[in-house]
Amino acid sequence: MLLAVLLLAALAACGKNNDNTAHKHNYIEKVTKPATCVEEGLATYTCYGCGDTYTKPIPVSDIHKYKKTVIKEATCAEDGEASLLCELCGATKTEIIPATGNHMYVLKETQPATCVAEGKEIYQCQNCDSTFEDTVPPTGKHIYESLVTKEPTCVLEGTMTYTCTVCGDSYTEPIPATGKHNYIREEILKQPTCVKGQKKLTCATCSDFIVEDIPPTEDHVYKEWLVLRAPTTTEPGLERSFCDNGCGNFFEREIPALPPEEPEEPGEEPAEGGEGGQTGGN
Ligand SMILES: [Zn+2]
Ligand SMILES: [Zn+2]
Ligand SMILES: [Zn+2]
Ligand SMILES: [Zn+2]
Ligand SMILES: [Zn+2]
Ligand SMILES: [Zn+2]
Repeated sequence: MLLAVLLLAALAACGKNNDNTAHKHNYIEKVTKPATCVEEGLATYTCYGCGDTYTKPIPVSDIHKYKKTVIKEATCAEDGEASLLCELCGATKTEIIPATGNHMYVLKETQPATCVAEGKEIYQCQNCDSTFEDTVPPTGKHIYESLVTKEPTCVLEGTMTYTCTVCGDSYTEPIPATGKHNYIREEILKQPTCVKGQKKLTCATCSDFIVEDIPPTEDHVYKEWLVLRAPTTTEPGLERSFCDNGCGNFFEREIPALPPEEPEEPGEEPAEGGEGGQTGGN
């Protein structure tokens, strides 16, 4: 509405009458033909007050109508190149096509992490030399080897030392005492006779000991004889002795018959030899 009023006012001011009254033209420019790189264009100016018009050429422009041909495709790392040819004037120029930066990374090398050291994963672009590295955190898993650093004995604990072959981290664990005594120190407590003896065997390492019997011998000691039956001139006697060591064994033997008392009877048979008869007893 306001615009219409202004327009009317302008028309009035423009004085579209035969008085040919001078007025100040107000031209509006309109491009009726755009300029190109080869041809001038044309602009038409029209006074909105009186309708008076005139035209003015638009100079040849430096804006070409390029047709682009890719000569070299850009890659992830390298710029490409395109050639531009103006379809109108034949002007040419080349244009850089920027590298895409879209690398195609694949895992190329792995340096494994250890218990304490970070590992690495090295990726390389399939299409160029671009690489990047990823770190792999330490595993914290030690690889222990065990070694007996102190042998256990019958009574003392030993030591097992575990050492990581990679970083040297170590810890120890006790090895239980073996409890196996080595009884090699021998001491005779009582010599054996016909009664068993005793020996003390002491461990080579500690003071632990055991007492063992020593088997008895057969060497009895007969000292005191008891006559069970006195010999006569016709019968041998018998005597018995218990072992002096108190083992309970006794021994019996004949006592030879007495010589004949009567010299008038010399033709008597000689007395039987006293061969020992033995009786065992415990
Ligand atoms: Zn005018
Ligand atoms: Zn051109
Ligand atoms: Zn690449
Ligand atoms: Zn380690
Ligand atoms: Zn011992
Ligand atoms: Zn005896």
